[in-house]
Amino acid sequence: MNNNFLLSIIIPVYNEQENIIPLLKRLIPVIKKYHYEIIFVDDGSKDKTCEQIKKQSEKNSQIKLISFYRNFGHQMALSAGYQNAKGDAVVSIDADLQDPPEIIPKMINQWEKGAKVVYAKRNQRQGETIFKKLTASFFYQLINFLSDVLIPQEVGDFRLLDKEVVNFLNNLPESSRFLRGLVSWSSYPSAYVYFEREKRFSGKTHYGFLKMLNFALEGITSFSTKPLRIATYFGFLSGIFGFFGIIYKLIEKILYPQQFTVGWAGLFTAIMFLGGIQLITIGIIGEYIGKIYKEIQKRPMYLIKEKVNL
Ligand code: UDP
Ligand code: MG
Repeated sequence: MNNNFLLSIIIPVYNEQENIIPLLKRLIPVIKKYHYEIIFVDDGSKDKTCEQIKKQSEKNSQIKLISFYRNFGHQMALSAGYQNAKGDAVVSIDADLQDPPEIIPKMINQWEKGAKVVYAKRNQRQGETIFKKLTASFFYQLINFLSDVLIPQEVGDFRLLDKEVVNFLNNLPESSRFLRGLVSWSSYPSAYVYFEREKRFSGKTHYGFLKMLNFALEGITSFSTKPLRIATYFGFLSGIFGFFGIIYKLIEKILYPQQFTVGWAGLFTAIMFLGGIQLITIGIIGEYIGKIYKEIQKRPMYLIKEKVNL
């Protein structure tokens, strides 16, 4: 095997002080046969994560650090990693040891065989609550139903990208970064490597229900305008209902005037129903306007406080 390439490992970290050393202990033995660089992106951690990484990067110059002024989110941390990675192959991995580093050589094998994107796909989720599993599965189904790109199921942000794909991501003009969607949208030749997702080594997930929901909405609105179309269909549907309702009532009034009823209950439900649909529709339109607003502001995606060994 020709190991004459540079492997970049990018690791977004947010309050992961207990995980840095255990992760490096497992990661380095696996990748030391390659030329490698490890880029930690500290997403504004409030604990000792940054200090921990600096200590390690003093001992080993292949361990690098980018730190943000504040928390910009997992996807932004990954984006900063991609912007700074020099590797021919770039692997992104979580810091909590839920993604086993041991499968990286398998990913590299697939890459050497020609895949530009190698996804790590989970066989099962150990130690995650049923709630998390259900919401995750709901998330993928919803996103694949509503969006125009097919985002593979049970595939997170643990993947290998060829330099070409990294360049594609880095050169995208948009500031919204739903990376797994963008990677799948680009449809470079891809391959899968399978693994068992482990328990978080230490600490707890940063992705609760609300964050997952927001993440899903971000994914949907970044990749499709189907929700707007669905809103239009709803409008048509309730319009048709209303139209037939009027005709029905007119006929009733003409043919059976003694039976004709005027009730507020029916009116009330109709108003609530329509009011609800209208509010949801305005909300959906608002989501897209918000996205347009963010794009035209052209603010930087993140602010870098400091770089070490880079
Ligand atoms: N993370 C981050 N910024 C955030 C939240 C999370 O950089 O705002 C990092 C976190 O340190 C971890 C990875 O992203 O390395 C995945 O986060 P987490 O394990 O909480 O997500 P889950 O695995 O539960 O989906
Ligand atoms: Mg995790």
